[in-house]
Amino acid sequence: MRTILVLFLAMLVFSCKETKVKSVTMKEDVAVLANDSLKGRKTGSEDEKKAAEYIAKRFKDLGLQPKGTDGYFQKFTFKASNNPHQEAEFTSEATDSTQTGENVIGYLDNNAENTVVIGAHYDHMGMGGEGSLYREGEAIHNGADDNASGVAMMLHLADSLQKKDSPKKNNYLFIAFSGEEEGLLGSNYFVKNPTIDTKKVTYMLNMDMVGRLNSENTLAVYGVGTSPIFKQVVNANAGDLNIAENESGVGPSDHTSFYLADIPVLHFFTGQHEDYHKPSDDTEKVNFEGMETVSNYIFSIIKDLDSQPKLAFKKTKNESEVVPDFKVTLGVVPDYLFSGKGMRIDGISEDRPAQKAGLQKGDIVIKMGDYEVTDMMSYMKSLSKFEKGQTVNVTIERNGEPIMVEVTF
Ligand SMILES: [Zn+2]
Repeated sequence: MRTILVLFLAMLVFSCKETKVKSVTMKEDVAVLANDSLKGRKTGSEDEKKAAEYIAKRFKDLGLQPKGTDGYFQKFTFKASNNPHQEAEFTSEATDSTQTGENVIGYLDNNAENTVVIGAHYDHMGMGGEGSLYREGEAIHNGADDNASGVAMMLHLADSLQKKDSPKKNNYLFIAFSGEEEGLLGSNYFVKNPTIDTKKVTYMLNMDMVGRLNSENTLAVYGVGTSPIFKQVVNANAGDLNIAENESGVGPSDHTSFYLADIPVLHFFTGQHEDYHKPSDDTEKVNFEGMETVSNYIFSIIKDLDSQPKLAFKKTKNESEVVPDFKVTLGVVPDYLFSGKGMRIDGISEDRPAQKAGLQKGDIVIKMGDYEVTDMMSYMKSLSKFEKGQTVNVTIERNGEPIMVEVTF
């Protein structure tokens, strides 16, 4: 009788414990985030907020500490742009035309010296509009691959990194970014308003569109040039994956913000497809087995780097920088959150016209040739006037002083 009672109690305890640690699969997370009920998770919308709350709950269930400014959340306000060539602007004053996005941040503290940041954006395009490639009116853009897949993988890694035999020599900060589709707003805001000491960040991993691993198992890894150790680690752990390496730390996703803060970055991407930025980017098209492979790969990289001291940072030639419809480029990354007069430089590409002319991060371009630069739009307009090989006087503001330099395109 007693034995039976003890057994029964033990079973009860065991089953309670089991419900508590029952893990959610990547498929379940993608299905929730890319469900029609969240209407495409447009930054600043009520639907995006619901997605943020779901992620915060998942962080809590996983036992992560809140590391935002308001529990797990870190809010930021911005002015949306209705100009297709102009990105949204960050603003500190809240007015009727401003919107609020929020990053969701959870922390796994291993009492270590350094921290690894693992991030993925959770916002998407809502019902379409700017950036959508769908031409038949409004429809829910579910963004299962872009980027419910990355968020699900981040949560899966958060789960794996808590397990007993997981690498423990670093702390881990998990960030679900908002505002990526509007111009990397959430990651840019975090880097400028960090909730941990970014000098202690050893490296950052970004997952954006990791749900469509193809039959050749091709995985693109960007940023392999941003730390001397990456190339070796990225290839040594590849297993069955075909790694397409790209050196550059600058690319069209949130790792760029961290690279520009001199933090080594790796970005994982399973590639473009015909459903990109269309309502047909749906859960049933995601390759979940492929996600398991990619997730295991990233875990093995983390494990491999566990015993390393803080990684050295290296600047890269930013070959992936794209400025369409221009004969020339300056070779800079504009600060899309800058709302003052001119175009503030947030990053400089190696061996490009701006660097050769001695321009620096933080410089504000106010005039190019005969053209005044007051904002991103006038910057782009004036840039389109120049030819390759042409030398132009460019006026910048550095520490409040105007300086004129000669730039050769
Ligand atoms: Zn994306």
